[in-house]
Amino acid sequence: MAEPDEGPSDATPHVLAVDLGVRHLVAGVVGPDGEVGVRDRVVPPTRQPWVALTRLVDRVLAATPEESRPTVCGVTGPGPVLADIGEFRSVTVTGWEGVPIRRLVAETTGLPTVISSTGHAHAIANAPDDGHLIGLYLGDQVDGGIVRDGQLLSGANGHLGAFGHLLVDPDGPVCACGATGCLDLYAGAVSLEAQFGREVSRVPDATVDRAGIMVARACASLAAMLDIHRIVLGGPVVTALGRRLTDAMSAELDQRSRLVHLEEIHIRAVRQHVLVGGAAVARHRVATGGIDPAPAVTAT
Ligand SMILES: [Zn+2]
Repeated sequence: MAEPDEGPSDATPHVLAVDLGVRHLVAGVVGPDGEVGVRDRVVPPTRQPWVALTRLVDRVLAATPEESRPTVCGVTGPGPVLADIGEFRSVTVTGWEGVPIRRLVAETTGLPTVISSTGHAHAIANAPDDGHLIGLYLGDQVDGGIVRDGQLLSGANGHLGAFGHLLVDPDGPVCACGATGCLDLYAGAVSLEAQFGREVSRVPDATVDRAGIMVARACASLAAMLDIHRIVLGGPVVTALGRRLTDAMSAELDQRSRLVHLEEIHIRAVRQHVLVGGAAVARHRVATGGIDPAPAVTAT
Protein backbone atom coordinates (compact mmCIF):
# COMPACT_ATOMS: atom_id res chain seq x y z
CA MET A 1 0.00 0.00 0.00
CA ALA A 2 1.27 3.46 -0.82
CA GLU A 3 2.22 5.81 1.92
CA PRO A 4 -0.44 8.35 2.85
CA ASP A 5 -0.07 11.35 0.58
CA GLU A 6 -1.45 14.19 2.60
CA GLY A 7 -0.31 17.76 2.09
CA PRO A 8 0.64 19.93 5.04
CA SER A 9 -2.70 21.70 5.17
CA ASP A 10 -4.54 18.38 5.31
CA ALA A 11 -2.23 17.19 8.06
CA THR A 12 -2.90 20.24 10.22
CA PRO A 13 -6.61 20.96 9.93
CA HIS A 14 -6.78 22.37 13.47
CA VAL A 15 -4.14 24.21 15.45
CA LEU A 16 -4.03 25.13 19.12
CA ALA A 17 -2.90 28.75 19.27
CA VAL A 18 -1.82 30.64 22.39
CA ASP A 19 -0.93 34.30 22.80
CA LEU A 20 0.86 35.77 25.80
CA GLY A 21 0.09 39.44 26.33
CA VAL A 22 0.64 41.97 29.06
CA ARG A 23 -3.00 41.90 30.09
CA HIS A 24 -4.21 38.63 28.63
CA LEU A 25 -3.43 35.02 28.08
CA VAL A 26 -5.51 33.72 25.18
CA ALA A 27 -5.81 30.20 23.87
CA GLY A 28 -8.06 28.71 21.22
CA VAL A 29 -8.38 26.25 18.39
CA VAL A 30 -8.06 27.67 14.87
CA GLY A 31 -9.57 25.76 11.97
CA PRO A 32 -8.24 25.31 8.43
CA ASP A 33 -9.92 28.47 7.12
CA GLY A 34 -8.60 30.62 9.95
CA GLU A 35 -11.81 30.50 11.96
CA VAL A 36 -11.31 30.57 15.72
CA GLY A 37 -13.43 27.95 17.47
CA VAL A 38 -13.24 27.13 21.17
CA ARG A 39 -11.27 29.85 22.93
CA ASP A 40 -10.77 31.31 26.36
CA ARG A 41 -8.76 34.07 28.01
CA VAL A 42 -7.60 35.09 31.45
CA VAL A 43 -5.80 38.04 32.97
CA PRO A 44 -2.28 36.82 33.71
CA PRO A 45 -1.43 36.79 37.41
CA THR A 46 1.71 38.65 38.37
CA ARG A 47 3.17 35.56 40.04
CA GLN A 48 3.63 32.19 38.36
CA PRO A 49 1.68 33.07 35.19
CA TRP A 50 2.61 29.70 33.73
CA VAL A 51 0.23 27.98 36.16
CA ALA A 52 -2.64 30.06 34.74
CA LEU A 53 -1.40 29.30 31.24
CA THR A 54 -1.42 25.53 31.63
CA ARG A 55 -4.89 25.61 33.24
CA LEU A 56 -6.16 27.78 30.39
CA VAL A 57 -4.80 25.40 27.77
CA ASP A 58 -6.26 22.42 29.60
CA ARG A 59 -9.69 24.08 29.67
CA VAL A 60 -9.62 24.86 25.95
CA LEU A 61 -8.59 21.33 25.00
CA ALA A 62 -11.24 19.83 27.31
CA ALA A 63 -13.92 21.93 25.63
CA THR A 64 -12.79 21.15 22.07
CA PRO A 65 -14.96 18.66 20.17
CA GLU A 66 -13.26 15.46 19.05
CA GLU A 67 -13.49 16.40 15.35
CA SER A 68 -11.61 19.65 16.02
CA ARG A 69 -8.73 18.21 18.05
CA PRO A 70 -5.53 20.15 17.22
CA THR A 71 -2.39 18.33 16.09
CA VAL A 72 0.14 21.16 16.54
CA CYS A 73 0.46 24.24 18.71
CA GLY A 74 1.73 27.76 17.99
CA VAL A 75 2.54 30.18 20.83
CA THR A 76 3.01 33.90 20.21
CA GLY A 77 4.08 36.77 22.42
CA PRO A 78 6.04 40.02 22.35
CA GLY A 79 9.54 39.56 20.99
CA PRO A 80 12.36 39.03 21.11
CA VAL A 81 12.04 35.26 21.10
CA LEU A 82 14.87 32.95 22.00
CA ALA A 83 13.78 30.27 19.59
CA ASP A 84 16.68 27.93 20.29
CA ILE A 85 15.67 27.48 23.92
CA GLY A 86 11.96 28.19 23.46
CA GLU A 87 11.60 31.30 25.62
CA PHE A 88 10.33 34.85 25.33
CA ARG A 89 12.59 37.68 26.46
CA SER A 90 10.50 40.86 26.15
CA VAL A 91 11.07 44.07 28.06
CA THR A 92 7.29 44.61 28.09
CA VAL A 93 5.90 41.31 29.33
CA THR A 94 7.44 40.35 32.63
CA GLY A 95 7.19 37.16 34.62
CA TRP A 96 8.16 34.85 31.77
CA GLU A 97 11.92 35.24 31.85
CA GLY A 98 13.57 31.89 32.17
CA VAL A 99 10.30 30.02 31.68
CA PRO A 100 10.70 27.36 28.99
CA ILE A 101 7.39 28.15 27.32
CA ARG A 102 7.76 25.80 24.36
CA ARG A 103 8.58 22.79 26.54
CA LEU A 104 5.92 23.73 29.10
CA VAL A 105 3.15 23.94 26.50
CA ALA A 106 4.34 20.85 24.64
CA GLU A 107 4.31 18.81 27.83
CA THR A 108 0.92 20.16 28.88
CA THR A 109 -0.75 19.53 25.54
CA GLY A 110 1.23 16.60 24.15
CA LEU A 111 1.49 18.57 20.89
CA PRO A 112 4.53 19.59 18.82
CA THR A 113 4.85 23.26 19.74
CA VAL A 114 6.51 26.26 18.10
CA ILE A 115 6.94 29.77 19.50
CA SER A 116 7.16 33.06 17.64
CA SER A 117 6.98 36.78 18.19
CA THR A 118 3.53 38.18 17.51
CA GLY A 119 5.06 40.33 14.78
CA HIS A 120 6.58 37.41 12.90
CA ALA A 121 3.31 35.52 13.22
CA HIS A 122 1.38 38.49 11.82
CA ALA A 123 3.72 38.65 8.82
CA ILE A 124 3.47 34.93 8.12
CA ALA A 125 -0.33 34.97 8.45
CA ASN A 126 -0.60 37.62 5.75
CA ALA A 127 2.27 36.65 3.46
CA PRO A 128 1.76 35.89 -0.20
CA ASP A 129 3.11 32.51 -1.30
CA ASP A 130 6.21 33.80 -3.06
CA GLY A 131 6.05 37.56 -2.69
CA HIS A 132 7.36 40.28 -0.41
CA LEU A 133 5.68 41.82 2.59
CA ILE A 134 6.35 44.01 5.61
CA GLY A 135 4.09 43.10 8.53
CA LEU A 136 3.61 45.76 11.19
CA TYR A 137 1.76 44.71 14.32
CA LEU A 138 0.48 47.33 16.77
CA GLY A 139 -0.28 45.36 19.90
CA ASP A 140 0.81 45.63 23.53
CA GLN A 141 4.07 46.61 21.92
CA VAL A 142 4.89 47.34 18.31
CA ASP A 143 6.37 44.38 16.51
CA GLY A 144 6.73 43.15 12.96
CA GLY A 145 8.25 40.86 10.42
CA ILE A 146 9.55 40.84 6.86
CA VAL A 147 8.72 38.23 4.24
CA ARG A 148 10.89 38.09 1.13
CA ASP A 149 10.20 35.66 -1.71
CA GLY A 150 7.68 33.99 0.57
CA GLN A 151 10.26 33.37 3.32
CA LEU A 152 10.26 35.02 6.74
CA LEU A 153 13.56 36.78 7.36
CA SER A 154 14.92 36.11 10.82
CA GLY A 155 18.22 38.01 11.10
CA ALA A 156 21.36 36.91 12.90
CA ASN A 157 19.58 36.21 16.19
CA GLY A 158 15.98 35.75 15.04
CA HIS A 159 15.03 39.24 16.18
CA LEU A 160 14.53 40.87 12.79
CA GLY A 161 11.29 42.86 12.76
CA ALA A 162 11.46 44.62 16.12
CA PHE A 163 10.05 47.75 14.51
CA GLY A 164 8.84 49.15 17.83
CA HIS A 165 12.25 50.63 18.38
CA LEU A 166 12.57 52.42 15.08
CA LEU A 167 13.40 56.07 15.70
CA VAL A 168 10.48 58.18 14.43
CA ASP A 169 10.85 61.33 16.54
CA PRO A 170 14.36 62.52 17.46
CA ASP A 171 12.87 64.91 20.03
CA GLY A 172 10.57 62.30 21.54
CA PRO A 173 10.43 60.92 25.08
CA VAL A 174 12.69 58.20 26.44
CA CYS A 175 11.67 54.64 25.63
CA ALA A 176 12.01 51.62 27.95
CA CYS A 177 14.83 50.48 25.67
CA GLY A 178 16.88 53.55 26.58
CA ALA A 179 16.58 55.38 23.25
CA THR A 180 14.34 58.35 22.50
CA GLY A 181 11.40 58.70 20.13
CA CYS A 182 10.79 55.02 19.37
CA LEU A 183 7.67 54.05 17.39
CA ASP A 184 6.45 51.97 20.32
CA LEU A 185 5.89 55.13 22.39
CA TYR A 186 3.36 56.40 19.86
CA ALA A 187 1.65 53.26 18.63
CA GLY A 188 2.03 50.54 21.26
CA ALA A 189 -0.97 49.82 23.50
CA VAL A 190 1.00 49.63 26.74
CA SER A 191 2.75 52.94 26.06
CA LEU A 192 -0.44 54.75 25.02
CA GLU A 193 -2.44 53.49 27.99
CA ALA A 194 0.35 54.38 30.41
CA GLN A 195 0.42 57.93 29.05
CA PHE A 196 -3.31 58.54 29.26
CA GLY A 197 -4.53 56.16 31.92
CA ARG A 198 -7.34 54.95 29.68
CA GLU A 199 -8.00 52.34 27.01
CA VAL A 200 -6.46 52.89 23.60
CA SER A 201 -9.88 53.35 22.01
CA ARG A 202 -10.40 56.44 24.22
CA VAL A 203 -7.15 58.33 23.66
CA PRO A 204 -7.53 61.92 22.32
CA ASP A 205 -7.92 62.46 18.58
CA ALA A 206 -4.66 64.41 18.47
CA THR A 207 -2.89 61.34 19.80
CA VAL A 208 -4.42 59.16 17.11
CA ASP A 209 -3.29 61.64 14.48
CA ARG A 210 0.21 61.65 15.93
CA ALA A 211 0.25 57.85 15.94
CA GLY A 212 -0.71 57.87 12.26
CA ILE A 213 2.13 60.26 11.44
CA MET A 214 4.66 58.15 13.31
CA VAL A 215 3.48 54.85 11.83
CA ALA A 216 3.59 56.42 8.35
CA ARG A 217 7.16 57.60 8.96
CA ALA A 218 8.13 54.08 9.94
CA CYS A 219 6.41 52.60 6.88
CA ALA A 220 8.13 55.09 4.55
CA SER A 221 11.53 54.33 6.08
CA LEU A 222 11.01 50.58 5.92
CA ALA A 223 9.79 50.70 2.32
CA ALA A 224 12.78 52.82 1.32
CA MET A 225 15.27 50.64 3.12
CA LEU A 226 13.92 47.29 1.98
CA ASP A 227 12.38 48.09 -1.43
CA ILE A 228 9.23 46.28 -0.35
CA HIS A 229 6.03 48.11 -1.15
CA ARG A 230 3.36 45.90 0.42
CA ILE A 231 2.75 46.60 4.10
CA VAL A 232 0.10 44.86 6.18
CA LEU A 233 -0.87 46.63 9.37
CA GLY A 234 -2.64 44.73 12.14
CA GLY A 235 -3.17 44.38 15.85
CA PRO A 236 -5.57 45.72 18.49
CA VAL A 237 -4.29 49.30 18.28
CA VAL A 238 -5.15 49.39 14.57
CA THR A 239 -8.63 48.11 15.37
CA ALA A 240 -9.09 50.53 18.28
CA LEU A 241 -7.91 53.66 16.46
CA GLY A 242 -9.71 52.74 13.24
CA ARG A 243 -10.15 55.00 10.26
CA ARG A 244 -8.69 58.07 11.93
CA LEU A 245 -5.33 56.31 12.22
CA THR A 246 -5.20 55.24 8.58
CA ASP A 247 -6.38 58.69 7.40
CA ALA A 248 -3.55 60.31 9.35
CA MET A 249 -1.11 57.85 7.81
CA SER A 250 -2.36 58.64 4.31
CA ALA A 251 -1.96 62.37 4.88
CA GLU A 252 1.62 61.93 6.08
CA LEU A 253 2.52 59.67 3.17
CA ASP A 254 0.96 62.12 0.68
CA GLN A 255 3.46 64.72 1.83
CA ARG A 256 6.23 62.35 0.82
CA SER A 257 4.68 61.36 -2.50
CA ARG A 258 7.55 62.75 -4.54
CA LEU A 259 9.68 59.89 -3.30
CA VAL A 260 9.73 57.30 -6.06
CA HIS A 261 9.59 54.31 -3.73
CA LEU A 262 6.35 55.60 -2.20
CA GLU A 263 4.51 55.77 -5.50
CA GLU A 264 3.86 52.06 -5.35
CA ILE A 265 3.44 51.63 -1.61
CA HIS A 266 0.34 49.70 -0.67
CA ILE A 267 -0.67 49.62 2.99
CA ARG A 268 -3.51 47.39 4.06
CA ALA A 269 -5.03 47.34 7.55
CA VAL A 270 -6.42 43.96 8.60
CA ARG A 271 -8.59 42.86 11.49
CA GLN A 272 -7.52 39.39 12.52
CA HIS A 273 -7.85 37.53 15.78
CA VAL A 274 -4.40 37.31 17.35
CA LEU A 275 -4.69 33.51 17.45
CA VAL A 276 -4.69 33.40 13.64
CA GLY A 277 -1.01 34.39 13.76
CA GLY A 278 -0.01 31.58 16.11
CA ALA A 279 -1.88 29.10 13.95
CA ALA A 280 -0.15 30.42 10.82
CA VAL A 281 3.27 29.96 12.40
CA ALA A 282 2.54 26.37 13.34
CA ARG A 283 1.19 25.54 9.87
CA HIS A 284 4.22 27.21 8.28
CA ARG A 285 6.58 25.10 10.37
CA VAL A 286 4.73 21.93 9.37
CA ALA A 287 4.74 22.94 5.71
CA THR A 288 8.48 23.65 5.75
CA GLY A 289 9.32 20.42 7.53
CA GLY A 290 10.20 22.03 10.86
CA ILE A 291 7.83 19.87 12.89
CA ASP A 292 5.59 16.88 12.33
CA PRO A 293 2.01 17.11 13.55
CA ALA A 294 0.84 14.71 16.21
CA PRO A 295 -1.30 11.83 14.95
CA ALA A 296 -4.95 12.84 14.74
CA VAL A 297 -7.01 11.30 17.52
CA THR A 298 -9.83 9.16 16.22
CA ALA A 299 -12.96 8.52 18.20
CA THR A 300 -13.41 4.98 19.45
ZN1 LIG B 1 12.76 51.88 22.19
